[in-house]
Amino acid sequence: MSDTQKTIFKKIIDREIPAKIVYEDELCLAFHDVSPQAPTHILVIPKIEIRSLVEIKKSDKELLGHLLVVTSEIAAKLGVSSAGYRVVVNTGQNGGQSVPHLHFHILAGRALTWPPG
Ligand code: AMP
Repeated sequence: MSDTQKTIFKKIIDREIPAKIVYEDELCLAFHDVSPQAPTHILVIPKIEIRSLVEIKKSDKELLGHLLVVTSEIAAKLGVSSAGYRVVVNTGQNGGQSVPHLHFHILAGRALTWPPG
């Protein structure tokens, strides 16, 4: 993929393709994963284009904190907090990242195994 090509998540942010959005504010967007790996599977993404955790800078501290607070709030809103859930940030090739736009997976609704595959 070239750097100038829009990612699927940028297209969702720009409303060029649909998504089942559960939360939005000026900094981030959260929506249902199209291929859920658990009964609840939400993606939380920043609106600015950061490819992965590899690119994070100190100046992103506030944004990253915000994403985690929003993640916690979404889990609470969806009623999965007390049973528990997993937050995953696949990073790069070995991390299994397929979309080069930073995203937090929220996986919930079943007991998840460890270690991951
Ligand atoms: P990752 O493999 O960590 O990069 O995660 C990318 C995730 O994006 C996968 O779980 C995909 O199922 C999900 N995904 C890809 N396209 C879409 C889409 N159009 N809407 C919602 N989720 C998507």
